[in-house]
Amino acid sequence: MKRIYLDHAASSPLSKAALEKMLPYLTENYGNPSAIHAFGREARRGVEEARGTIADVIGAHPDEIYFTSGGSESDSWAVMEGSRAKDRRMHVITSAVEHKAVLNSCRALEKQGFRVTYLAPDADGVIPANAVRDAIGENTGLVSVMTANNEIGTLQPIEEIGEICAERNVLFHTDAVQALGALPIRVEKMGVHLLSASAHKFHGPKGVGFLYIRRGVKLQSRIFGGQQEHGRRAGTENAAGIVGMAAALREAEDRREQNCAHMRFVRDAMLCFVMREIPGAHLNGSFTKRLPGNLNLRFDGIDAQALIMRLDMAGIAASAGSACMAGAVEVSHVLRAVGLDGDAAASSVRLTLSADTTLEEGLEAVRVLKENVFSMRLLCPSP
Ligand SMILES: *Cc1c(COP(=O)(O)O)cnc(C)c1O
Repeated sequence: MKRIYLDHAASSPLSKAALEKMLPYLTENYGNPSAIHAFGREARRGVEEARGTIADVIGAHPDEIYFTSGGSESDSWAVMEGSRAKDRRMHVITSAVEHKAVLNSCRALEKQGFRVTYLAPDADGVIPANAVRDAIGENTGLVSVMTANNEIGTLQPIEEIGEICAERNVLFHTDAVQALGALPIRVEKMGVHLLSASAHKFHGPKGVGFLYIRRGVKLQSRIFGGQQEHGRRAGTENAAGIVGMAAALREAEDRREQNCAHMRFVRDAMLCFVMREIPGAHLNGSFTKRLPGNLNLRFDGIDAQALIMRLDMAGIAASAGSACMAGAVEVSHVLRAVGLDGDAAASSVRLTLSADTTLEEGLEAVRVLKENVFSMRLLCPSP
């Protein structure tokens, strides 16, 4: 059976360029990057070259890039320590549609006595910049709003929020995990002080990511040990992962426009088919302010978990909500936040594409989707 993978927002396959760049660091270049001998220097060269590449892609200085174990670590670091970077300001602003890495960090802050405002999105999932402006008070130290949502693909007005944070002298963090490779990411233009990224979302390896920390931002360490990463993030660098991440990001950035145009084309063809062929189908999220590879669809009267199992049996990988919630009975907090009730949220399916998803694959997937929605409704007609 030919399988079709439509779960790229959960994780994407490693690119060939990234693998090739990594191989020597998994074999002969095994030195510790902090060691002074030739083996160490070889590994160090790879790590620093990668730092330069990443800085160049996002418009930062190399000394502003800190390697981490991925998006969750970067988000936790940014929120837990970013909230403390401005003395005695104990108020944090975030949104109700953030990834759990941000939301659960905020919950941890609340237990430590911080006050957190969770801004509500509009029906498309957009956090209005004015809502951020209105929520900022004397006591606000940090705003954390994601660049693009991982479930419904909604893009946020990051530049506007950045301007507001600058005016009010508040730190601004954005989780750009879903945005890298899909949107132009320039930290100055966005007005962010902290930005999280994860390699496996843009065809790099799993278990590696970075946090951009703007020069002058006083962010304390969360992982203690050696003096790696300017003494701010201890631990022997994941040299192979880091060089793979940089190669994947360079490639994703160089091909970004053509990749996005292709994904948009396939995605829109799939959406057209669904809207024309399947009654009671709806698009969750925004038509326009949306990641090019994201489709989040709702089918009246359908249990999304059951639908996803049927799709899996037909060789099609899709998901309900995000991967982090797979197996959990809890419905998507993002879909609830955009105003869907429990049943509507539980009848939503996410299909996420990559630049390698062909039109044939996309259309085959929605054809199988249609077959299954129809047969499920025959089995169990909704009242
Ligand atoms: C995947 C994801 C994360 C977590 O990244 P990991 O590297 O898997 O820990 C954080 N935020 C968003 C928006 C994501 O999509």
